[in-house]
Amino acid sequence: MNPIYNNLLKNPQWYQKRKQILQRDGYKCRHCGSSIGLNVHHRQYHIAEQTGYYFLPWKYNDRYLITLCEICHQAGHVNYKVPTFNV
Ligand SMILES: [Zn+2]
Ligand SMILES: [Zn+2]
Repeated sequence: MNPIYNNLLKNPQWYQKRKQILQRDGYKCRHCGSSIGLNVHHRQYHIAEQTGYYFLPWKYNDRYLITLCEICHQAGHVNYKVPTFNV
């Protein structure tokens, strides 16, 4: 994860979006059911075809976001590369 992206995740708009997803998923990891150390993970990254820029983290449709605990999240990133699409 690059530093710019990390900074974006401190944005209040991401905070709002993240809260929505946590609520939708009942504050539980969708993979193992844990409620400890929850992260909201992007299942895909999107690049806007017109500008060539990545979408801002909170601009994604909710279906591309999923609640995972820290352990499942880290494991997921080690085992799978998040696919990137031009949209
Ligand atoms: Zn988990
Ligand atoms: Zn992730």
